[in-house]
Amino acid sequence: MRSLSTITWLVVLLLCTAAWSAGAAELTDSDRAYAASLGKVSFCVDPDWEPFEIISPAGQHQGIAADLLRLVTGRAGLSLELVPTTDWDESIATSKAGQCTLLSFLNQTPKRDEWLLFTEPLFTDSNVFITREEHPFIIDPAILSGESIALPSGTSMEERIRRDYPNLRVIITDSEKSAIDMVSTRQASMTLRSLIVAAYTIRKEGLFNLKIAGQMPNYSNNLRIGVLRDQPRLRDILNKAIATITPTERGQIINQHVAIQVQTGIDYALTIKIALGLSAVLAVVAYWGWRMRKLSRELDRLSQTDNLTNLPNRTRLNLQFPIELARARRLGQGLSLIMIDVDHFKRINDEFGHLVGDKVLIAMADLVRRSVRAIDLPARWGGEELVVLCPDSHLDQALILAERIRQAVRDHDFDTGRRQTVSIGVATLGPSDDIDQLLNRADQALYIGKSSGRDRVCSEADLTDT
Ligand code: GH3
Ligand code: MG
Ligand code: MG
Repeated sequence: MRSLSTITWLVVLLLCTAAWSAGAAELTDSDRAYAASLGKVSFCVDPDWEPFEIISPAGQHQGIAADLLRLVTGRAGLSLELVPTTDWDESIATSKAGQCTLLSFLNQTPKRDEWLLFTEPLFTDSNVFITREEHPFIIDPAILSGESIALPSGTSMEERIRRDYPNLRVIITDSEKSAIDMVSTRQASMTLRSLIVAAYTIRKEGLFNLKIAGQMPNYSNNLRIGVLRDQPRLRDILNKAIATITPTERGQIINQHVAIQVQTGIDYALTIKIALGLSAVLAVVAYWGWRMRKLSRELDRLSQTDNLTNLPNRTRLNLQFPIELARARRLGQGLSLIMIDVDHFKRINDEFGHLVGDKVLIAMADLVRRSVRAIDLPARWGGEELVVLCPDSHLDQALILAERIRQAVRDHDFDTGRRQTVSIGVATLGPSDDIDQLLNRADQALYIGKSSGRDRVCSEADLTDT
């Protein structure tokens, strides 16, 4: 999380500096008079977009966007009136119907240009992929295949992802939070969110099985105020007020809503000098930081992968065990373990040599990988033994899966001129079990399978029968 704060800090510092140093014309008395003549200007917001904006239970507009909007409209001498809505889709519909003059904080898109004028960005934030910890770093989203991406409905991201990355399967969720939850609970491979929102949500919800797995180039959120098309003067006045916001003011607002470090209290001219002087150095540091994190993640992945079969190895499984155990206990779900041992594997080595033995093991691993569900974790336990950890599965479900694996192996042609089989032991988590007890019972069940003729699935239920 420390590295996350560092990146966020860099992005905030550099972007705020860029935005402020642009400069613009000043608000005139005539602008202020025009603003006052408008009376109450109605505005709609996204009621569920923490930490950017929410409508509080008391009906207040709160968050980073709310504070920025208050600052801007205060400077322009505008007074605002919130039109409350229950979700973002309703806000869009209300705006389209001309019932709110402003939309507080949104990206500009061609569709939205049809009825809105946009101000300069109030705030710029990059977009990042959020995946589970084990997901490899995403360098090019276009080469991902068969992966799903959860996105809240109606966001500009949905429009762009569908257009630019048809290889990703979009899953629409009803809120920001459920998109992130779907990734955490393995119902989606990834989501794409703003860096600020991601940092905030991961920290707030304690979703420490998630990580930021890459940044989407050219997909910054340039968050602007949307103004109905018949109000160009209002847009121009807002632009002038936006140009007066200083990096320190932006930083202070962000700092109040996201617990990250943003430097404050420095004289503006000095801030700009330091920012410009250091930006090249910071860019190099950020780049190397990114490279190091990428390499370290790759090292992590390699240390947790079996190099013969490419399955997760025992280290990986040992890391996942306590997580799945805790999840099963917390959610009251089943957790089962399937232990697979190749029958008479030594004979293959003896008769055909180790290389053929290796090929059989690789094919065996592929069969298991293809037989399991997306939420299961197949792994090489050691030698010619594989295991599958099956979250959210009771004994009967795990037995069905085990039988499917046994049959798939039996039916497969391993090119050795003879049928190859496996024996399988299955156990499921009991109320007072720990991982060792679960492993032990699966192992004992496997032993029963071996001693009663091999090529069979036995479960812990068979233990009590004997
Ligand atoms: P059983 O049906 O009782 O399980 O008999 P088995 O011959 O499969 O069992 P045993 O434990 O006697 O032999 C396992 C063999 O697996 C011994 C070992 O040389 C071989 N083995 C373990 N790892 C590898 C590997 O990575 N490659 C190859 N080719 N063989 C391996
Ligand atoms: Mg063995
Ligand atoms: Mg064996």
